[in-house]
Amino acid sequence: MQEGLGKYTDIEIKQEARMREDQREEKRAYEEPIEVQPVSTEQPAAPQEYDCVCSECGKDTTVPFLPKKEWPVYCRDCYSKRRR
Ligand SMILES: [Zn+2]
Repeated sequence: MQEGLGKYTDIEIKQEARMREDQREEKRAYEEPIEVQPVSTEQPAAPQEYDCVCSECGKDTTVPFLPKKEWPVYCRDCYSKRRR
């Protein structure tokens, strides 16, 4: 009777060595028709300025809207003063 045979638990370490690198060369072979768009020479609509006279100081000024006779029009200075 020979005793002494220990039980060894074999721990299997699974090492998954991922040495594989998938080198995928994605060939972009899309062919899109390049449409040359003509450069529009139309300039963006500039804000229309209407010449008017300030109802406060009587100075010539311009307003971006059509001044109405029944509505007083003020220049920037007077407008800012009135608006505070
Ligand atoms: Zn004014």
